[in-house]
Amino acid sequence: MNSTGKRQVNSLVFYLYKAHGWWLVNEWYPLVVDLSEQAAKGALRPVHFRLTLKKYVGELLAKIEAMADLPDRPRLIAELSSACAFLSGRELRWATFAKQGRSLSCTSNRSPSDSIVSLGQLMALGPAINVFYGHGAALPARKFCALCWRYVLGAGKHCREHRVPAVGTTGQSSQARDGYWFGRKLSPQFNDHIRALSSQARKEKLRSQWREAIEIVRVAPWLERYRPHVWQFVIERVGRPGGAFMLPTLIRALDDHSLEIGEMREQRADFHRDLVDDLTAVFDLLLRAEAWLGAAAERRDNWGGGRAGAGRPAKAAASFRQL
Ligand SMILES: [Zn+2]
Repeated sequence: MNSTGKRQVNSLVFYLYKAHGWWLVNEWYPLVVDLSEQAAKGALRPVHFRLTLKKYVGELLAKIEAMADLPDRPRLIAELSSACAFLSGRELRWATFAKQGRSLSCTSNRSPSDSIVSLGQLMALGPAINVFYGHGAALPARKFCALCWRYVLGAGKHCREHRVPAVGTTGQSSQARDGYWFGRKLSPQFNDHIRALSSQARKEKLRSQWREAIEIVRVAPWLERYRPHVWQFVIERVGRPGGAFMLPTLIRALDDHSLEIGEMREQRADFHRDLVDDLTAVFDLLLRAEAWLGAAAERRDNWGGGRAGAGRPAKAAASFRQL
């Protein structure tokens, strides 16, 4: 490592100590050097963070296993093995790394210079390392499409579904035209639904209920009750999601931009990974989607009148695919 690299590692260590109270112990110095070098090149992703940690934790574990006389050996082996087991899993959420790290570092009131305490704290600091290297600010600005619930990354007011059709173009697909004009017509009803759902969310404290539903893994019943149109929409697209992949699946199914390619597609995938940790943003996404789908179902029912099956959400949701 050259002297610039060393200076960078030192200021990263100092920043993590000052801002997050993290205490570096010698055992983890090579790990921090590695993370620092990766983050200097680009934002750390949970998958790389996990693999890097796993590598160094595994190395330390092997070293300690070989030191028969170490007084603290059984405890260190047990704790490092449990860290290794977690890091060998498939978990990719920063929030879960932090939670796991806390459970490692809070098992007793040990000194901060304990290597397990230090590792536990470091497990929560992936996003902080990104902030130190300026990656937090480099994330694209995100906002909702003015006409629906999908996220627009970067410039522009509308998602791909609701792009303003260019005047006089014949190449524009009817899909895009319908999407835009339908969205425009639906806008007043969509906004009414947003207002009604927001006021219900305040009155019934749905935001905290939502967090709780995630914590205790009861997302499906919550959605069925409070976001029935969204639930139906997701099931029709990707089947009934469940288990650990519930949130990523929901996000991908709703914020679907399958027409994006190359760098935009990667940016969208990165964005979705970050979104999993941002329960407030996911709540807002679900609320807007429910408002839109509810408004659209209402509108179609009014058109459909006495048509058989009118008013059934399943029918309405099926017809959205043709937008
Ligand atoms: Zn849109």
